Amino acid sequence: LLLAYEPAKRLARVRISLETGMVGVRMMFQLADRPLTLAEKPGAKPLLPGPGEIRFDDVSFAYQDGQPVLEHFDLTFAAGKMTALVGPSGSGKSTMLNLIMRMYDPDSGKVLFDGQDIAHATLASLRQKIAYVSQDTFLFAGTVMHNIRLGRQDASDEDVIAAAKAANAHNFIVAMAEGYDTEVGENGARLSGGQRQRISIARAMLRNAEILLLDEATSALDAESEALFRDALQQLTAGRTTIVIAHRLSTVHQADTIVVLEAGKVVESGSHRMLLNQGGLYQKLYEYQLMP
Ligand code: ADP
Ligand code: MG
Repeated sequence: LLLAYEPAKRLARVRISLETGMVGVRMMFQLADRPLTLAEKPGAKPLLPGPGEIRFDDVSFAYQDGQPVLEHFDLTFAAGKMTALVGPSGSGKSTMLNLIMRMYDPDSGKVLFDGQDIAHATLASLRQKIAYVSQDTFLFAGTVMHNIRLGRQDASDEDVIAAAKAANAHNFIVAMAEGYDTEVGENGARLSGGQRQRISIARAMLRNAEILLLDEATSALDAESEALFRDALQQLTAGRTTIVIAHRLSTVHQADTIVVLEAGKVVESGSHRMLLNQGGLYQKLYEYQLMP
């Protein structure tokens, strides 16, 4: 059933990735001031600080009338933990992140941060809490320093360098002739894929948001980049409420909980080991080393 909607090309690509021993990713940090679709409601209040629990409470949502993506959907993301969302293409993973970022409001039900309905929060307080790292390319022409500092404009050079170190980016940066003053080129063209990813992680580190949302991509990295990236990710997610749309097994292994979605419903959730033993959808995804 699952494979019925996987195009042959995609399977071919996965086979190539397996040959090199991994399924790679590209993920990029998206700017804090990404425009949100929705306006602030009159009387909106800033979100209060809290441990960082995210809860979907009876959420129904459709992009188009009569085509519901989520219906009476309930799910809690534990504060400070990493949850991996996996499931077939179209199962609603990106939609969940869209709702958490308030790109859209639910048609009914609520998305709550520490019990506070985000539909009634100020946009500034919502943005401040969230760092979003996506597969979209988000490096700009300008120096390495500039690109990392986009995470927090008032960061000192020392802060930027500390973030780069934590993201396993510092060593390759200082190895370049111009160091932090190196121009990355349009879209970061002068850097390798693995280097761009670590810059984007450094940017998210600098942002130091309570909630981290990651939408992984599936492009391959070389083995060294993969390992450096995985370590950086571990640093970035530690102690933060993290939700990652995971395509790579190495990411799924890092998660505290895995939630398996199919057609807008949670069909399984639990630890990697537990889900493997269950012999359900997760096990099928795992066998093909593929998190679509
Ligand atoms: P996933 O991320 O798991 O692949 P999505 O959340 O992107 O799934 O999509 C869930 C469903 O919503 C799919 O049927 C998809 O076609 C539909 N969908 C996603 N984005 C839009 C959009 N902007 N407009 C209309 N339909 C959409
Ligand atoms: Mg998606």
